Amino acid sequence: MNIKDVLYLPSGKIFLIETDDKYLIEATEMRDVSVDGKLHLEVREATDPRVIWKHLVLYSKKWLMTVSTQKGCVHNCKFCDVAPLPFKGNLNQGEIEEQIKIILNNTPYVNKSSKVKIGFARIGEPSWNIDNVLGAIKNLNNISKELNRDFTWLPCFNSILPRGAKETIEKVIDVKENYYNGFLHFQVSCNSTDENKRKELFGGADVLSLEEIINKINNIKITNRTVTLNFIVMKDVEVSVEKLKKMGLNKNKFSIKLIPLNKTNNAEDNKLETYANYSNYEKLLELKNEFESNGVPVVVDAIAKCEEAGLCCGQLAQIFR
Ligand code: SF4
Repeated sequence: MNIKDVLYLPSGKIFLIETDDKYLIEATEMRDVSVDGKLHLEVREATDPRVIWKHLVLYSKKWLMTVSTQKGCVHNCKFCDVAPLPFKGNLNQGEIEEQIKIILNNTPYVNKSSKVKIGFARIGEPSWNIDNVLGAIKNLNNISKELNRDFTWLPCFNSILPRGAKETIEKVIDVKENYYNGFLHFQVSCNSTDENKRKELFGGADVLSLEEIINKINNIKITNRTVTLNFIVMKDVEVSVEKLKKMGLNKNKFSIKLIPLNKTNNAEDNKLETYANYSNYEKLLELKNEFESNGVPVVVDAIAKCEEAGLCCGQLAQIFR
């Protein structure tokens, strides 16, 4: 594997890495941008990188990474720029770990961090490559030790939960509870509470229904971090707290994440529009309040305007391949 290019955003870098069989994958390292209240608006709407730099969280407190798990993806989600890339199979555990080593070797100034959140969700749907992904997750401490870093890892498994990938929930929760003492972030991509719409947004993929996911997780022991149901909120796409409650959503097991739809080529081609973002962010906060007033823990997350280009998965691989 070798680095083909490095692209810079105000809060970090995107590595374009070529595999030995000449497939271009992406890995990222970003610093968190932390702000509240009025400043949050200032940062969100910033087109000047200096505004972002002022609010970067120290590496020692939090650091964010993502790595790819497959060469492309078999799915064709309408909002994702990985979808048009050709699919050439799984990365093996060594190739997943190699991306982490590339990031670390290119950031020799970060020696210590009390939270390194690493998402196995750049290019690829990790549940189709679960043994290699969970193998790399279990090996994170060895990787940081080998490279002389003092890190506390927070692995993050993001999935649309395709039905054909058997026992993903059980396998991820096993590693979460038995290797990470509950400190693994399991995030399920949901995007709508209307199952037909979900299927359509996931390009026809046969995914587990929300009801099945909720039932399954309600019956498994979950400690420390709850499971996140992630909704990219889109115009005319239903996100109903009432429906989720009827399905038995348990606030001790789940939390909700609401994020705007960021600009991707695929979303644009498919005429998807965000429900809220920069100009009407308060709509997102209203939806957040609706969840909160029903006792459901919820976070909203939006990226700054000047980081929108390039931050979404597959965008740069599309351009540079
Ligand atoms: S969102 Fe995930 S599953 Fe869907 S096309 Fe993109 S990488 Fe694949």
